[in-house]
Amino acid sequence: TSYGFRQVAEGEKQPLVNEVFHKVADRYDLMNDLMSAGMHRVWKDAAVAWLNPPKRPGWRSLDVAGGTGDIAFKIIEASQRNAHVTVLDINGSMLSVGRDRAGKRGLAANVDFVEANAEELPFEDASFDAYTIAFGIRNVPRIDTALSEAFRVLKPGGRFLCLEFSEVDMPLLEKVYDAWSFNAIPKIGKAVTGDGEPYSYLVESIRKFPNQANFAAMITRAGFGRVTWRNYSAGIAAAHSGWKL
Ligand code: SAM
Repeated sequence: TSYGFRQVAEGEKQPLVNEVFHKVADRYDLMNDLMSAGMHRVWKDAAVAWLNPPKRPGWRSLDVAGGTGDIAFKIIEASQRNAHVTVLDINGSMLSVGRDRAGKRGLAANVDFVEANAEELPFEDASFDAYTIAFGIRNVPRIDTALSEAFRVLKPGGRFLCLEFSEVDMPLLEKVYDAWSFNAIPKIGKAVTGDGEPYSYLVESIRKFPNQANFAAMITRAGFGRVTWRNYSAGIAAAHSGWKL
């Protein structure tokens, strides 16, 4: 393409992703605010409101690719500090930022951190009431494997909720968004971390990710029932929901 992206083979993908998040872990939260112009907060709040965690103790949730803990903290607060959330991420640098933030917010008792791969979850079958993954699944090389693992670790009746960039359904907004992602995002990445190329790759990974309907079909194929989605900001992001029935 004219954007000069390099093709990333499946086997090359995880090391590249790991390098990006290892490099930016300290500045990840700032980068998120800059690159999404603060919108990621709104989308995360909307997704957690849709999840609607119960306000009683004993409910356990797993946040995969949980990074610095945003979704976990929002779930815990929405449950009025009743829920317990396990934050799982492949990247120890992201998790240690998350651990610090949990301590500062006084949420350490409600959360634990596990360094592992979404494709191979270190939990028994039927361990969790909910599984969330926000802006994570498109970084995972084998999405189908991650979805089967999600299904496996959920209890019967458990809820799957995924927040991810998706397909914009408003042509004018799409133009603005394209200009933003292909020009501004790699530049912000370069300014803050000294290297724009990994961010070009991340933008490209958004373009390659299946649209709302195709991703819903993948979730259904993994075994989930009643799969639906909600668009945020005309589809810049979308949340997909499914149930282990
Ligand atoms: N969920 C957080 C949020 O919304 O702010 C972090 C999202 S960040 C864009 C993507 C995260 O996915 C990174 O922390 C990265 O380390 C993690 N990740 C990438 N590949 C993974 C894998 N195979 N298994 C688990 N986590 C992975």
